[in-house]
This record gives sequence, structure tokens and C-alpha cells, in this order.
Amino acid sequence: MSLCKICPTCGTKNPPDEPICINCMTDITSVPPIECDEISKKGIEHKTQESKIPFDLLDLEEDEKTVILSKSKLILKGEDFEIVVRDGDVVGRHAVGSDFLQRYKTVSRKHAKFSYKDGTWFVQDLNSTNGTYLNGLKLLPLQEFPLKNGDKLSLSGSLEFTVNIFKS
Ligand SMILES: [Zn+2]
Repeated sequence: MSLCKICPTCGTKNPPDEPICINCMTDITSVPPIECDEISKKGIEHKTQESKIPFDLLDLEEDEKTVILSKSKLILKGEDFEIVVRDGDVVGRHAVGSDFLQRYKTVSRKHAKFSYKDGTWFVQDLNSTNGTYLNGLKLLPLQEFPLKNGDKLSLSGSLEFTVNIFKS
């Protein structure tokens, strides 16, 4: 009987004393070593019986990854809520995020527009009454400014969000 650690992320069998998955670098220090002879037999049986299925699944996962990549989303994180923003969304009291923003009279009905181009998110103030601030600086209206993870974005100077960008 030999022991090994099965990586919870990719399923790779690792030596029992390995702290990091040899395949995907996942931290497996807390994964308990198990007897692997039986596991490997089961694995072989599966492969001989349904050899094509794992490959099809792998292909599918890759496709999904590509789709998600091209549909990057951005989350505006406030103190007690968050607004999920997709490419082309307009945020405001009568737009995306209105459930929360309608309570804030300083926020314009259509306050700011978000777009995603070539891997970068941009914000554009839509000539809002009280302006949009990025890391404390007031943005010129109707111009796009790039956003990065952790930026502080404020609608009207009083309501501040942290920018969270999700690329996958
Ligand atoms: Zn792994």
C-alpha cells in the first residue's frame, strides 16, 4: 500500500509529503494522505470504460473559461451591499444598482457608464449632477478612465465603492 494526497483542485495524485500540488500548485498541506492503490485502480477502470468522456469534459471547461473571460464582470463593493456591473452597464438611481441607489438623491438617474475593452475596465461619468470620483479625483464628464482592482470609486463624492474586477 502506498500513500498519496489527491489534489482537491485538479485531482492529481501527489506524494504524501508534498505541500503543494505538483500539477496546479494548490496548497495541499491540509489534505490527508490516503491509500492510493485502490484509487488508482478505480481511475484505470473509469478510463478504460469511458475514455472519451474526460476529454470532452476538459474541452467544455476550456470553452466555458473563454466565455467567462470575455464576459468579465466588475463589482462595486459598498459597506453593506454591492452592485454587479457588466460591460456597457449604466449605473444610477434609474439604472443598474437602482435597488440600492434610489435612496441616494445625490446620485444621478444615469450616473456613470462602465465598459470593458481589451482586458481593461473603464468608467465614464455621464455628466452627472454631482460627479464621479476615482481615488478622490473628480473625473471629467463623458471621458473614459481605466479602472483597476481596489480602486475607490465614488458616485457624487459621498457614496464610495471599492472596485473588484473578476476576469474568470
Ligand atoms: Zn492540483
